[in-house]
Amino acid sequence: MKPGTIFALSTASGKSGIAVIRVSGDFALQSIKKLGVNIPTPRKVQKARLKDPTTMDVIDDAIVVYFQAPHSFTGEDVVEYQIHGSRAVVENMLGVLRKLPDYRIADPGEFTRRAFENRKMDLTEAEGLADLINAETIMQSKQALRQMDGAIGNVLSKIKERIISILSLLEATIDFSDEEIPDDLVVRVEEEVSDLITILQQHLCEYSRAERIRDGIQVAILGEPNVGKSSLLNVLVKRDAAIVSKVAGTTRDIIEVFTSIGGYPVIFFDTAGIRDNKSEIEGEGIRRALSKANQADLKIVVFNSTKPYKKHKKIDALTSDNAILVWNKSDLLTEKQKRALKKQEGTLLSTKTEAGLEKLLKSLQTEIEERFKASDNGVLTRLRHKEAVEKSVFHLQSIWDKSGKLIEIEFAAEELRMASRELGRVTGVIEVEALLDKIFSDFCIGK
Ligand code: GDP
Repeated sequence: MKPGTIFALSTASGKSGIAVIRVSGDFALQSIKKLGVNIPTPRKVQKARLKDPTTMDVIDDAIVVYFQAPHSFTGEDVVEYQIHGSRAVVENMLGVLRKLPDYRIADPGEFTRRAFENRKMDLTEAEGLADLINAETIMQSKQALRQMDGAIGNVLSKIKERIISILSLLEATIDFSDEEIPDDLVVRVEEEVSDLITILQQHLCEYSRAERIRDGIQVAILGEPNVGKSSLLNVLVKRDAAIVSKVAGTTRDIIEVFTSIGGYPVIFFDTAGIRDNKSEIEGEGIRRALSKANQADLKIVVFNSTKPYKKHKKIDALTSDNAILVWNKSDLLTEKQKRALKKQEGTLLSTKTEAGLEKLLKSLQTEIEERFKASDNGVLTRLRHKEAVEKSVFHLQSIWDKSGKLIEIEFAAEELRMASRELGRVTGVIEVEALLDKIFSDFCIGK
């Protein structure tokens, strides 16, 4: 742990009603004394007039809270100053703290890193906290809160414990290696390891869903030129994000816009209209549109309902099971034409009058909920979790040779040790300095 008593503005910078400055470390209490305040009872808010120790000028009328180690966020002595959020007061306070011996400004994420190093939370909980701070939609915050509660950490620790108890069984046999390994022991080990593999594999299956909740569910808007794809994007996100034009081939590169649907984070991609290429640039745009269609979680395929759809191979290929079909420009249709189209699969829409928009949003939300409904289990949310769990599964599977026979006990024990080690990496039991630097540098200062 980097030494020093650290401090930082923990609320956003800029003018605000209240700003919170947090101090953590061995000399956190010094600041209270220096600012001319009596040491408050731990965990009780105290009103205090803060004074500059050199000039004795009043800095602010504030609230001070003292969290005595180890009962604090970082596990160290922590003092929080709730001051008025003007630039002048905040600058003044930070200036005074900077001059105190042993005091320094905290690095990004350093409070949380200290909490981790003082065993107040495991690594997945710290990551959950980072995700919570970055959450932009309700589902993202729910997932982050579950992770902060230690959901995945608990699941993996239990699996680790089970691996360790199998290991101890095997090790007992190694110690008495002269004796024959009892058959029932082999069966027990094999059954237990198979069960653990199944559980870990289930978590791996849920990974991509959880990853999408963190990073956004990708929805590509596709179709021929001029059918109203850009207009649809604009009404979906309620602003002019894409250029709408009568000229076919206007959208050449992919435009992406982040929004929230029913609390789920969604990224819409407006793509170039698909037709037989007119120019090299447009051809590239179409190539990108088709590649986005492949990667996307969901597709909205837009058609111009006023024109008969002439079969187009590339468009037909898009209308697979994860596609929602939209018949646009319904405002230009007669009632009879509308009735005929309503019998077809898809939603009748006018981006001009917004008729049908509610229905489209509903079907989009239903589709998203079905595919991405959050699990109550702990979920792996980051690539590093997934990779470690995959490695752990690999080591567990390696206790059998190619013919499916249990390998020699010493080697099997080593595989189990490695499997457990990989799980330890996820929660941070196995500490890797470089990994910690990366994880905590993603935090903001003051957290
Ligand atoms: P894109 O090429 O598929 O992205 O289509 P745009 O969104 O640029 O729209 C092409 C043209 O169709 C523009 O002139 C739009 O104003 C028009 N348009 C789009 N949606 C509708 C609609 O629902 N009704 C009518 N009448 N015109 C529309």
